[in-house]
Amino acid sequence: MILVINAGSSSIKFKLFSVSDIKNPLPILEGLSERIGVDGFMKIKFNNEKFEYSNALPNHEVAIALVLEKFQELGAIKNKDEIHAIGFRVVHGGKLAKSVVINDEVYQIIKSNIELAPLHNPAAITVIDAVKKIMSSTKMVACFDTAFHQTMNKEEFLYPVPNNWYEDFGVRKYGFHGISYNYIVENYSKLSGKSKNDLNLIVCHLGNGASISAIKNGKTIDTTMGFTPLAGLMMGTRSGDIDPSIIQFICKKTGKTVDEVTNILNKESGLLGMSGLSADMRDVLDANEKNDEKAKLALTKYNQIVADWIVKFANKLEGKVDAIIFTAGIGENSVRTRKFVMNNLHILGTEIDEEANHNFSYEDHLLVSSKTSAIPVYAMRTDEEKMICLDTLNLTK
Ligand code: ADP
Repeated sequence: MILVINAGSSSIKFKLFSVSDIKNPLPILEGLSERIGVDGFMKIKFNNEKFEYSNALPNHEVAIALVLEKFQELGAIKNKDEIHAIGFRVVHGGKLAKSVVINDEVYQIIKSNIELAPLHNPAAITVIDAVKKIMSSTKMVACFDTAFHQTMNKEEFLYPVPNNWYEDFGVRKYGFHGISYNYIVENYSKLSGKSKNDLNLIVCHLGNGASISAIKNGKTIDTTMGFTPLAGLMMGTRSGDIDPSIIQFICKKTGKTVDEVTNILNKESGLLGMSGLSADMRDVLDANEKNDEKAKLALTKYNQIVADWIVKFANKLEGKVDAIIFTAGIGENSVRTRKFVMNNLHILGTEIDEEANHNFSYEDHLLVSSKTSAIPVYAMRTDEEKMICLDTLNLTK
């Protein structure tokens, strides 16, 4: 069995896979430990039943120990040794271009990348430390959100700033959500019967965090997120691209520090900042239905930015686009987002199939464009945990 762990600063998402069929891992249990360091709450879904626990979770180590205890109590595993390996989602891998087994060197790289991803990498280190203590002999694999994008050329990943910012400090575009992009490319390759190396795709990963990637011959040539996940599209709470001078201006006007203003751009901007209501797309869509002006403006801005990037990336792919794919929470589920975006790709000739676009209950993928659309457009469910499981399995079998 393989355990996949996705850790945040106060939460751990986990999913346990049976890998008897090594090509098709089967999820058998999933759950979430949250409020770690606050009080502690854990929920688990197993055998179509839901279980909830309110044990105190003072730190990640206690949380992981409780996860393993509950696995045994519920009968998902008999003992810890049945877990053959653990795969971790790590946001920033720096220059690492692939998932890797965690040894001392990799551990140090992840640690040194904390500087590049201060909001994300510390949680991965904390949880890796916790697992090391409890399951010291179990193999561990790190899967990075940045890895898939390491194929970008220098002219794409460099910023037009002094050279030494890159050379001395590693300032460059890294890109994120790579685990999801990798999954979508693999899945579309299966669906279309085309080899990955022949696929040109524009994939829109629209979740709380959101990005779009241009994929040529199965590899990223450009992506909207940058040095950090703050860049590119407008998101749930992140601003995406803005004029960098705004930071200095707001610091002066409000007396806030650069850190404080950057925090506002990360956590109080995007849909939340513009609507003044919520970071959750469903809430903003509901408010729009009730004619809330700010919600309407936030939605229009959000959708227009997505459409603009798709057009830009289609141009980068020289118009040779096999498919446009919407994925993650908003991409998979928001009928209105897909409709608006597709109706605003004027020069690409995409055409929506209104009825198909309204199907909520599709399993893996849904063709939302009409037969006469110049480019097929899909909604497709991403599965980052499965991708991590497959990489972990491949590296440890
Ligand atoms: P993350 O993994 O980045 O936390 P998700 O991929 O789960 O995020 O996406 C969360 C977003 O998806 C939220 O903004 C949520 O409102 C949106 N979402 C989920 N279901 C729907 C739906 N039916 N319609 C519109 N938006 C939805």
